[in-house]
Amino acid sequence: MEKIYLDNAATTALRPEVATEMMGILQNEYGNPSSSHSFGRTAKSKLELARKTIAQLLNVAAQEIIFTSGATEANNWVLQNAVTTLQVKRIITTRVEHHAVLHAVEFMQKNQEIQVDFVKIKTDGSIDINHLMELLSEEIPTLVSLMHVNNETGTILDLEEIATICKQHAVYFHSDTVQSVGKMELDLQKIPVDFMVASAHKFHGPKGVGFAFIRKGLSLKPIFHGGEQEKGIRPGTESLHNIVGMAKALQISYQNLEAERNYIQELKDYTITQLQNKFPDVAFNGSVNKALYTILNVRLPLDASKSSMLLFNLDMKGIAVSRGSACQSGSARPSHVLAAFLTQEEVLKPSVRVSFSHFNTKKEIDILIEALLAL
Ligand code: PLP
Repeated sequence: MEKIYLDNAATTALRPEVATEMMGILQNEYGNPSSSHSFGRTAKSKLELARKTIAQLLNVAAQEIIFTSGATEANNWVLQNAVTTLQVKRIITTRVEHHAVLHAVEFMQKNQEIQVDFVKIKTDGSIDINHLMELLSEEIPTLVSLMHVNNETGTILDLEEIATICKQHAVYFHSDTVQSVGKMELDLQKIPVDFMVASAHKFHGPKGVGFAFIRKGLSLKPIFHGGEQEKGIRPGTESLHNIVGMAKALQISYQNLEAERNYIQELKDYTITQLQNKFPDVAFNGSVNKALYTILNVRLPLDASKSSMLLFNLDMKGIAVSRGSACQSGSARPSHVLAAFLTQEEVLKPSVRVSFSHFNTKKEIDILIEALLAL
């Protein structure tokens, strides 16, 4: 049975060039970047080259990139520091954030007694900017945390516009850019975001590594304590093979961005057309036109009773799609993202998130649609 992977918002396949690069490090560069001998110095230079590569791709200074174990850690780190170090008294966010933000904010709310305000979500899944402005008119030391691209619907936030609004109101702005880094151009000299986070496994890099961008002048304190790595603010021996792999993956993603974006967009358009032909009453969660080219959230015109077995039935045919974020895929609970802007009746309908990469083909889409028709 041919296996079909259409869950690229959950994670992506490693690019072969990245695997080769990582293998070279694993086999040859086993020095500890903190050691002062030649093994350590070579490892350190590879580490700093990776930082420089990533910084250049985002148009920031190398010192503004701090390596972490991924985006969950980076989000928690920034959000906790906003309260403990930057002394914000309020976090403004939304109910459609990834749990790595939402649960971290809930934790802060419970343990630090900060105020949390949720920006309203419109019926197309985008944020209500007027409501955000209204919330910002209250002068409280604030951090705004809004994701760039929603991982379930693909809805894109205008990062430059929101960052500019936050600057005008003199509040900090953090963005979870996990789904956009490597898939959209990001020039951080133009976008006045204070903090953003990324995760390598979302752009065909390795799992268990990511980074935080911390704008110069904003210093964060470590969550845990140890060595002097990462200027002492994120101690622990650096995962060199992962970090070098991440830099390589990001570099290739940006080199190939235009070609891969065009290819994937065409594949997504094809999927939409085929679905509309075969299921005349199909609907899409969020605005298809405002969504990232890699994500399509489909609401199937099938009986609500089909919801629970939908993923299982597709999986039996070797097809991997998802209902929402990976941690929810196996659960029967409705998606917290869809629940934030759909009607109760719409939420109960069978929805699937199809998320694409340049490794997918039209033939795979045809097989998916056949499988959906057979449900
Ligand atoms: N934020 C978003 C939007 C995501 O899609 C994910 C991945 O599922 C994360 C955060 C968590 O990232 P990581 O797997 O690096 O912890």
